[in-house]
Amino acid sequence: MEPDISTSSERQREVLGGDNPTLDAMLHLLPPSLFLEVVEQSSVAISITDTEARIIYCNEAFARQSGYTRSELQGRNHNVLASQQTPRHRYQAMWGALTVRRPWSGKLINRRKDGSLYLADVSVTPVVDAQGQVSHYLGMHRDISELHALDQRLQNQMALMAAVLNATPMAVAVLDDNEQILLDNLAYKTLRSDLGGEEPVWQLHNAVPHATVFGVYIPLTIRHRQRWFTQVKLPIENLSEEAGHYFGHGRRLFTLVMIQECTAEYLRHEQDRLEQLRLRLDEQRLLLSIDETLQAASLKVRAPLNLLQAAGRLVPDSQLNPAIRAACEEGERAWQWLQSCRPVLPAEAWQSLPALQLLTDLDGLLRPQWPAGVQLLVERPIVPLTLSARPLRLTLALWQLLEFLRGRLPDEGGLLHVHCHEHDQMLCIRCEDNGPLVEGLLACHSLPFNCLWQTGDGAELTLSLVQEIINDHRGLVAVMLSEHGGVQVHVELPLLLEDRRS
Ligand code: FAD
Repeated sequence: MEPDISTSSERQREVLGGDNPTLDAMLHLLPPSLFLEVVEQSSVAISITDTEARIIYCNEAFARQSGYTRSELQGRNHNVLASQQTPRHRYQAMWGALTVRRPWSGKLINRRKDGSLYLADVSVTPVVDAQGQVSHYLGMHRDISELHALDQRLQNQMALMAAVLNATPMAVAVLDDNEQILLDNLAYKTLRSDLGGEEPVWQLHNAVPHATVFGVYIPLTIRHRQRWFTQVKLPIENLSEEAGHYFGHGRRLFTLVMIQECTAEYLRHEQDRLEQLRLRLDEQRLLLSIDETLQAASLKVRAPLNLLQAAGRLVPDSQLNPAIRAACEEGERAWQWLQSCRPVLPAEAWQSLPALQLLTDLDGLLRPQWPAGVQLLVERPIVPLTLSARPLRLTLALWQLLEFLRGRLPDEGGLLHVHCHEHDQMLCIRCEDNGPLVEGLLACHSLPFNCLWQTGDGAELTLSLVQEIINDHRGLVAVMLSEHGGVQVHVELPLLLEDRRS
């Protein structure tokens, strides 16, 4: 097809150069037919139409794309490619721009000669003559069917993935290498809204920084209720989409975060653990009180026995009253027997014990049996604090101390407030109640630690044993008057410091 446009160099200069001296100079160096050769050999489908959209020129690439020969196309309106699948408003938008001499580009569904459809990315530019009138239109067509199919497939896969992700009850999010959320599912969004718009992944990180595998329970307070979660973080290696990384450099490390709520499971687990702890503490308490009782009985036997033995030493053995001798022998046997009955207490190793764990356990041990009319308030420390302790013995001692205080409280309106904080490298546990003042309790500025505290089955520890356990932990226990009418018991235990630990 011969183009119906002037190929003379004067005409080219007139149209293209105008009064632009630089362009004029450039055109001067070009052979006159170069423009036509460039368009002819271009791999981009190019057409030139008159103002009625009748094709007056198209290149070989255009003919190939449409399936028509160039002679079949010459003089035909461009609507020869119209497939009736492109909405009318698209053409109206196209002509709306062209009639005011603005270029237009957009996507059209075209039909080839063989009837097959393809998606064309079309750019149409009005060509203006020396008088400023539109003389022609220049069209450039790119078949983007494959690109569209790929894009659509990607979108379908994304939609499929989103549907699968949204159907999973686990909260899932993908973070980019700047820790920004790239993708999240419905459960994650719901959790974010439960957290008042805070990012769940950050909240969990702040609660327990290094929990990256399932199995570590992480507490979050959501609308005044404590809920428990586990999370797993998996690295995903991704290729950079930046043009500068086209040749394969620039890997990006994304993170897949999966968060599972496990409040019910945690509570069940905690209940079982506390039940086990209670059994072990009961056993320990029983053994300690048996030991203490036998020790007390031994002492009671030992005192008169010592007197008798001392009396016996005043006279020669031959003159010793047989009754005294028999009493001494019997007493010694009884004392030996009591000693042999003392239980062997299981050894407990020293361990790191987080104060939070200790307080949580005490709360869990006390609360189920707490009377309805009595209030128990346990304030946990706000920073992580750790003790070096024999966990079972220390928990037992504090549990018994708190049970002792609870026993003093009135059935209605009683309050036991346990407050915990750090002071001078010590864990300070302040237990304050509003129970009645015990006569003489405060006179000696110490609890009646020598009193035998027996409320029911007779298996409770004497408070002196409580004191002994706290002393064993290099701690202190003291009692004082509470401003609110009851008593305050202060327990101080040395903290395990980071440097001491290392
Ligand atoms: P038309 O009769 O063309 O009417 C469609 C709308 O366009 C109507 O609102 C009408 O008023 C308006 N319109 C039509 N012609 C003119 C005009 N000359 N001036 C002002 N308004 C007008 N179409 C394709 O389907 N595929 C293509 O690849 C394609 N490429 C094109 C390339 C160029 C350079 C140009 C100029 C046009 C191209 N077109 C293409 C548009 C094509 O000419 C038709 O407008 C279109 O195919 C719709 O044809 P129709 O017969 O269904 O409707």
